[in-house]
Amino acid sequence: MTDEMPVTLEGVSYLYGKGALSKQILYDINAAIQAGEIVILTGPSGSGKTTLLTLMGALRSAQQGSVKVLGHELNRARDRTLVRVRRQIGYIFQSHNLLESLTIGQNVQMGLKLDPAGGRNARQRIADVLDRVGLGEHIHKHPGQLSGGQKQRAGIARALVNRPRIILADEPTASLDKQSGRDVVELIQELAREDGAAVVLVTHDNRILDIADRILHLEDGHMKPLGEAVAEGASRMLNLLGKHEPGTASYLAAFSFALARVAHADDVVTDSERAQMRRILHDVAHLETSEVEFIMELSMMQHRAHDSSGMGAEHNALLAERQDHFVESLFTIAGADGEVDDVEVAEIRRIAAEFGLQHSRFAGN
Ligand code: ADP
Ligand code: MG
Repeated sequence: MTDEMPVTLEGVSYLYGKGALSKQILYDINAAIQAGEIVILTGPSGSGKTTLLTLMGALRSAQQGSVKVLGHELNRARDRTLVRVRRQIGYIFQSHNLLESLTIGQNVQMGLKLDPAGGRNARQRIADVLDRVGLGEHIHKHPGQLSGGQKQRAGIARALVNRPRIILADEPTASLDKQSGRDVVELIQELAREDGAAVVLVTHDNRILDIADRILHLEDGHMKPLGEAVAEGASRMLNLLGKHEPGTASYLAAFSFALARVAHADDVVTDSERAQMRRILHDVAHLETSEVEFIMELSMMQHRAHDSSGMGAEHNALLAERQDHFVESLFTIAGADGEVDDVEVAEIRRIAAEFGLQHSRFAGN
């Protein structure tokens, strides 16, 4: 049984309502979540994330397809089965859902209710789990006496007190500031790793996507390849920029694409090349980190899609004005992995020729 995938979805469709008033929310969803894996489920508001999460959590049943959780088929399952599965799942909600009339310790104890342990044993487990989330000293306080981040951590303690094999978290950072949100997801990540639990975390907070082992993207009830979603996001960004600052946009598109080509010249894109690229794009465009990330991914994808056919020489004022910086940046990327090798120089020369760039570095030829 332990080698079972924690969650397997096959051809899952879901509709709210009945008959003429019914509305399909999820379409033919296929996914599998492994033990120890942290999967982020992302997508716009209303795309069906919460619905999908509640299907995995045995909190509702799909009309079509198969939902297997911890070895149990949930579709048309008996209530007894659903309850047994739910006991092995830790749920973390958008708001902490703590009861104000109970202490933090008693709230966490609620998580144990489904699986009654002995008194002493239970007290020890509650104390341990509160220590793990850094709330050991607050066990006798009421939720109102804690900060937002602390309350969310208490909610996590309650979800984890049963040592669940699956953790399902629905927008756990939505009501938190940037740093508390970061702390909370890192805590979930750390605890899940220690316990080997599978985690499915719903968010549309781009800033925490990096903690995922894998990202699933939902749009209008359809699972969509992440690459497509990122490309759309990036081109939306560039379009916006194009509308307000057309010169910058076309320069940035050409420039980031050229950087990606040099980074790919020796076939492997190293972390240091990526880091340099981020830095250069950031300096040129004065964009937010997440925006730089978008443009970088877009140019990397463009590179894969178009091979090295080039974008043609988009002559604009910025390109003419900044060509020294352009060429120097290409050499910076080429050198990011230690040394500038021949294939990288060759690629830079090709780009320079396509864009009509002049530079003293090419004087010898
Ligand atoms: P997300 O979590 O991605 O924002 P949801 O899964 O909550 O999306 O909702 C997906 C769609 O289902 C939305 O259009 C929402 O209005 C609709 N929906 C959610 N809950 C219900 C419900 N109980 N009855 C009818 N429609 C619902
Ligand atoms: Mg939701």
